[in-house]
Amino acid sequence: MSRSVGKPVLVLSRRTGMPGGPFSGIVLGSLSLSYFDRLFQNVKLGRDGTINLFHADGTRIVRHPVPNPELAPSFADSLNVRRILREGTGSFIGIAQSDGIERLYTFTRVGDTPLHLTVALSTREIEVEWRQKAQVIVAVVLALCVVAVGLALLVRWELRRRNAAEAELAQLSRTDALTGLPNRRAFEEAFGRAFAEASRRGGPVTLLAVDADHFKRYNDRYGHAVGDRVLQGLARALSDAARRPSDLVARVGGEEFAILLPGADAEGAAHVAERVHEAVAGLVVETEGESVGRITVSIGLALGLPRQSGTLADLFGLADAALYEAKATGRNRTCYALMDTVRAAPIAVEV
Ligand code: GH3
Ligand code: MG
Ligand code: MG
Repeated sequence: MSRSVGKPVLVLSRRTGMPGGPFSGIVLGSLSLSYFDRLFQNVKLGRDGTINLFHADGTRIVRHPVPNPELAPSFADSLNVRRILREGTGSFIGIAQSDGIERLYTFTRVGDTPLHLTVALSTREIEVEWRQKAQVIVAVVLALCVVAVGLALLVRWELRRRNAAEAELAQLSRTDALTGLPNRRAFEEAFGRAFAEASRRGGPVTLLAVDADHFKRYNDRYGHAVGDRVLQGLARALSDAARRPSDLVARVGGEEFAILLPGADAEGAAHVAERVHEAVAGLVVETEGESVGRITVSIGLALGLPRQSGTLADLFGLADAALYEAKATGRNRTCYALMDTVRAAPIAVEV
């Protein structure tokens, strides 16, 4: 406390003269402590930040912004102050014993004086700005994630919908609308596959060409709609007759059907043809309470061994020839054409 001005002052003194020489006096200067408040007032410390000036013995000389309630209190026992005095220059994060606030302490010794200057900023305040930015970044990243996941789900849903629509279209393009049977295109694909498979394995391929007898008459007598119902009935009868999972019944023309029996031998195929005649014979189609009459079909049965001879078209032609034979010899019957595996020439046999 300065006696001349009546205010707290910091007194600095220095011995004058040459180093190691005789004592020649002391230079003395004093700084009003309020000087430090003016000096530090432009430093942004936040709400809980402080600047302290300690003497090397732990006495606090200046505290900014709130001055010491008592003049030059001692902090010699404070762990933080001891560390500051011990290390000279550096920084650390510590909790002040006086107010319990965590601060980042940065400190240095003032020249070669026994004074230590400390700037301490509240870590919470340091992090506030960072935290706000981090929160914004986290929110944006989360929103982007949600959007990305949403888009991925949308794309997946759209792809599934598209695939389902394509599958349905593909199915429709291979199905006959009137009877629900595979159409000619589906039959030709299946026939090609069965033929190739039989070529590899060496087994037979058996084909039944089925044609409704005098079908035109139903149309002429009862109208096209009744003709359609007869066709639907025939489709059911043929499907009932060819029961194996590998058998394929298709509508390949107006009143023409084909039955593919992969792997069936002549005996098995003849049995299926017999069942077709039976099933068709049992078919009853009525219009206005009146039956359209007996429905019959003619069948051309062709069997070939693709590995040894013949082509797919040969086999189809054989079945057609056998069908023609069945028509020519009275209808409602099956004619057989077995591909001659020795001469590789088709021969038609009527049974
Ligand atoms: P055949 O015993 O010689 O086979 O005589 P058919 O009358 O059955 O043969 P034809 O080839 O002379 O007549 C076939 C008829 O089938 C002619 C055609 O109008 C009819 N037809 C073709 N497709 C359909 C269809 O989808 N619905 C109906 N109702 N009739 C059809
Ligand atoms: Mg016909
Ligand atoms: Mg026909």
